[in-house]
Amino acid sequence: MYYDDMDLGRKQRILIVDDVRLNTKILESALGDEYELSIASNGKEALAMVRTEMPDLILLDIIMPEMDGYEVCAELQRNEKTRDIPIIFLTALEGDENEAYGLELGAMDYIRKPFNVPVVKAKIRNHLELKKYKDLLKRDIRIDGLTRVANRRRFDEAFEEEKGRSIRSGNPLSILMIDIDLFKAYNDAYGHLQGDDVLRLVAKTLEKSLRRPGDLLARWGGEEFVALLPDTDMDGAYIVAEQLRKAIQDLGIVHEQSSIKRVITVSIGAATSVPGDQSSYRNLLQWADEAMYRAKDLGRNRVVCYEP
Ligand code: GH3
Ligand code: MG
Ligand code: MG
Repeated sequence: MYYDDMDLGRKQRILIVDDVRLNTKILESALGDEYELSIASNGKEALAMVRTEMPDLILLDIIMPEMDGYEVCAELQRNEKTRDIPIIFLTALEGDENEAYGLELGAMDYIRKPFNVPVVKAKIRNHLELKKYKDLLKRDIRIDGLTRVANRRRFDEAFEEEKGRSIRSGNPLSILMIDIDLFKAYNDAYGHLQGDDVLRLVAKTLEKSLRRPGDLLARWGGEEFVALLPDTDMDGAYIVAEQLRKAIQDLGIVHEQSSIKRVITVSIGAATSVPGDQSSYRNLLQWADEAMYRAKDLGRNRVVCYEP
């Protein structure tokens, strides 16, 4: 999942796991107004629901037939995708050693039955508040502060993922290196703050011009951007790059010092993996960079595809 797809303003979702219907009923009526609820009546069902619904918090009974709460907790902790979902054990099991065991498995809290509804509600609220800030943090470390598009860290993660997918599927993977032309001169003429405004607008325009859901635009640094295009061959990459180039030129941002069109333009280098050739993935960024510099040499405001 990409973190900027997260809707952090929505109602938070709690998964209640208990094999006794009466317990889930009480919790449903206590929490139903404030939260989205899902109910599971055994461990297996709970694991399946976590995968499809990604709850923000789990209330977990321990003693259940077949798979107990400890096993469910351990399984969720093993999986990187579910590890950060806070778990609160809600159990009739007595004894400090059981509580310690549950917390050591990775649960956030342990509440004994019979429980007091206001206490349960307060604890849930506290844990969910923490969860929300953790989610925000996770999202923000992958977003560029100035332009609010993905940053390099996020790009690196997505690149690794798409590389693996491309090697498995045999479909080509393309990359575009995008550099604003003569941007130093723009800053010198119009000031750094206005330069920042241009960077924001260029970033958003490039991002919007990418149409496929798997495409990713990231800020590479300075006035450079990089686009990741899964399942895209060289012809496809060229078409996308031309669209991006044209979208920026069409913004018509006046740049009197530019010898090109008197508006802000970009030069783009494109590179595509060679299916079956693992080393091509290692070279992809460098190839795109070389092609971009070639586009600069040829007069800027153009797209050059790397030819191995
Ligand atoms: P070229 O067409 O060859 O790419 O020329 P250029 O002037 O764009 O390239 P150069 O690498 O010489 O300069 C890049 C300039 O981009 C330097 C700096 O003024 C500007 N720049 C880099 N990062 C930022 C930023 O975060 N904000 C602003 N306003 N300007 C930036
Ligand atoms: Mg530049
Ligand atoms: Mg540059």
